[in-house]
Amino acid sequence: MAKRSGRKRSSSASAQKKIISLIAGLLVIAAVVIFGGAELGGFGGSTPLAPLITDEHAFSMHVIDIGQGDAILLSKDGTYALVDAGETMSPSAREARSAIFAYLDSLGVKKLEFLLLTHQDYDHIGSAKDILATYDVGVVYDNGVEHTSATYENLLQYISDKKICYTIVREGDQITSPWNGVTIEILSPPQDLIMAGSSPDINENSIVLDVTYKTVSFILTGDAGKKAEAYILSAGKTVDAEILKAGHHGSSTASTDAFLKAVSPNVIVMSLGAGNDYGHPHFETLTRFAKYTDHIYRTDLDGDVVVTTDGSAYSVVTRNEHVKENMLVSGNGVRV
Ligand SMILES: [Zn+2]
Repeated sequence: MAKRSGRKRSSSASAQKKIISLIAGLLVIAAVVIFGGAELGGFGGSTPLAPLITDEHAFSMHVIDIGQGDAILLSKDGTYALVDAGETMSPSAREARSAIFAYLDSLGVKKLEFLLLTHQDYDHIGSAKDILATYDVGVVYDNGVEHTSATYENLLQYISDKKICYTIVREGDQITSPWNGVTIEILSPPQDLIMAGSSPDINENSIVLDVTYKTVSFILTGDAGKKAEAYILSAGKTVDAEILKAGHHGSSTASTDAFLKAVSPNVIVMSLGAGNDYGHPHFETLTRFAKYTDHIYRTDLDGDVVVTTDGSAYSVVTRNEHVKENMLVSGNGVRV
């Protein structure tokens, strides 16, 4: 059963919402909503957000607000890794690039244990080369799909020139976790890839990850859509997770009912830009999300979103004030 308490608004104009969900056993969920007087940041804030969970070994997923794209920092014990390094074309690529760098700098990141690129689209790899040039990166993980964009080819050339460790991973392959107690499992793409006609589908072959710290699991999906979700379910993988980084920026091409039912997330986070050209998040997708949870977060409204867990409890902190009523308004302005 669920119990909720402590829901009140602080008098601070720059109130920041923090949610902590405490899981005790399998069925009892207590959620406490606390408003604090945190500073409001702009696009890609430069002040670290303080997690509500202060366990010294806590694991965090930072969904950085870079506009339309993905850049997700994983951290534990002062050690970091990055999933995607996107860069938007609008409002401007430079702004998005600055957002990632400002965020990493704010945490004092010097080294990334790995940079995992979910797939080859610009909004996921646009800053990857600059990340490699700026930080000491242990290994680059990629799905190895052949792609001929200049950005991707330049990136591969740079990796080769600088002799950076580069590993292709697909379902069944192992990623060594840099963190004690954290496991990383690759759920997709399949070894023989998902095809669109005679060539591999770029979005559907996104690397999908299950990152688990003790009893709390995160699913990260890149831009994987319905075909990838169907593959993952057909492979019989356990995808039950507390936190879902929703596929493809809240597009209706992803997040099927069957997949959401299997994941049964308590927290859903979307990474997308305000006023994007695609109408993300799509109305149909938000309608499906609303059936599974009311803890929905999106970077276009919340700014940076940080989910932190000590392995049993987890909390969500947002850069901007989290206005729950606005989460279910689609990119076209239609409210669920
Ligand atoms: Zn994308």
